[in-house]
Amino acid sequence: MPQYKIAVVGAGPAGYFTAQALQNSQTEELTFAIDMIERLPTPWGLVRSGVAPDHPKIKTVSKVFEKVAAEPGFRLFGNVELGKDIELKDLAERYDAVVMCTGSSIGKKLGIPGEDLANSLSAAEFVPWYNGHPDYSDLDIDLSGKVAVVIGAGNVAMDCARMLALNPIELDTTDTADHAVNALHASSIRKVYIAGRRGPEHAAFTSPELRELPKLEHTDVYFDSDLIEDAHKRAISQAEFGELEKHLASNLEAMRLIAEHPHAGNERSMEFKFLSAPKEIRGEGKVEEIIFGINQVVDGKVVDTGETYSIKCDLVITAIGYESLPIQGVNFVKGKIDNNEGRAGGNIYTVGWAKRGPSGVIGTNKSDASDVVKLLIEDLKSPKSTRDITELISSGHHIVAQSEWQRINAAEVAAGEPLGKPRVKATSVAQLLSLGQG
Ligand code: NAP
Repeated sequence: MPQYKIAVVGAGPAGYFTAQALQNSQTEELTFAIDMIERLPTPWGLVRSGVAPDHPKIKTVSKVFEKVAAEPGFRLFGNVELGKDIELKDLAERYDAVVMCTGSSIGKKLGIPGEDLANSLSAAEFVPWYNGHPDYSDLDIDLSGKVAVVIGAGNVAMDCARMLALNPIELDTTDTADHAVNALHASSIRKVYIAGRRGPEHAAFTSPELRELPKLEHTDVYFDSDLIEDAHKRAISQAEFGELEKHLASNLEAMRLIAEHPHAGNERSMEFKFLSAPKEIRGEGKVEEIIFGINQVVDGKVVDTGETYSIKCDLVITAIGYESLPIQGVNFVKGKIDNNEGRAGGNIYTVGWAKRGPSGVIGTNKSDASDVVKLLIEDLKSPKSTRDITELISSGHHIVAQSEWQRINAAEVAAGEPLGKPRVKATSVAQLLSLGQG
């Protein structure tokens, strides 16, 4: 029975759905040995270090990942970094196929003056900070000011704004990293603006995320109802047969409900600004003010009015999308791996954000993986009979195998239990490796 060896690089949702698609494609004639290679000692990618801690339901997909990992022929190689501990060319040589599921971890830049001032940071730093990613645990973020501005009208911006604006007691029973819970409890931020450069009708938020905002007990949320009314009229005038697409109608309705929701007079608030294009961040050594150009929508197009306004603020977080970190051995174009429907040259493939850019929800990776795995199987030749990759990784290197990850996982969950939390995360590589040793 021919068995093909597949390397999946990156243990996030795209990696696990790729492994699952391979497992589901097995027949009596075709079987796969899957090695999943991950830079961190912990798998699950954005499910661990991206999904907001107050969205625990989304994280239950990790049960699917663990089921995939329990299948015969699956091995985890955690704490193994491509380009450092192992080279892509060696993987391509030894495996029948390599699937790059390496995501996009770099925050896009605004490219405006003042962006590099202290306390102007990217969601690509802030999100992994509150989620306990070892690379960001020591992030220097000053929460002693009162006002924060989050740039972007997508779900990541929404997560960042909510995490800053909610009362941190709401995080006490979540898996937010301890350092972040402590910092957020001590935070003086009380007003959070979230700014989109286009109109409410163009916002990339999804309506479930909007609809949960009125449920925030300790935070008043402000939407300008006239702006939403105008957006609704504009959207209808642009719509085919005068009928809005379902998601847009639902978004605008969710915004209208928020605008009409009574304010409880909470000290904490979140306010949505639209048609606001960031032009400059100002401050003496640190963020003090942000200048926005005022846009308007003319015949469905967003144009600059030439007018500006400013918000005095102490913190700016940019959540305007991500790009992939370049990796030697594959070409990158516009922040993604250069690919044709997932084929990235030779026996290298790609799935997830590295393939299609930072779009879609976790489940989107399932169909993406299944499409690419179909092509990968079409391309398979006779299986290679090569030696194991463990030979390529230096003998002293600490590889976190599935059993060791399970010990880390169990220790974190056990630490959370008495505190009513799903887990207490270890936030440094050394801590994680020591948990894995039991
Ligand atoms: P996104 O949905 O693409 O939103 C990016 C936002 O940044 C857009 O509003 C975009 O505005 C804005 N933007 C881009 N360049 C800008 C600039 N130069 N100046 C000002 N604004 C700019 O990206 P995301 O929020 O990073 O989310 C990535 C993916 O993850 C999305 O598919 C999202 O739905 C998903 N996600 C889902 C959840 C969830 O399900 N709860 C949570 C987090 C993320 P324009 O539209 O004008 O370009």
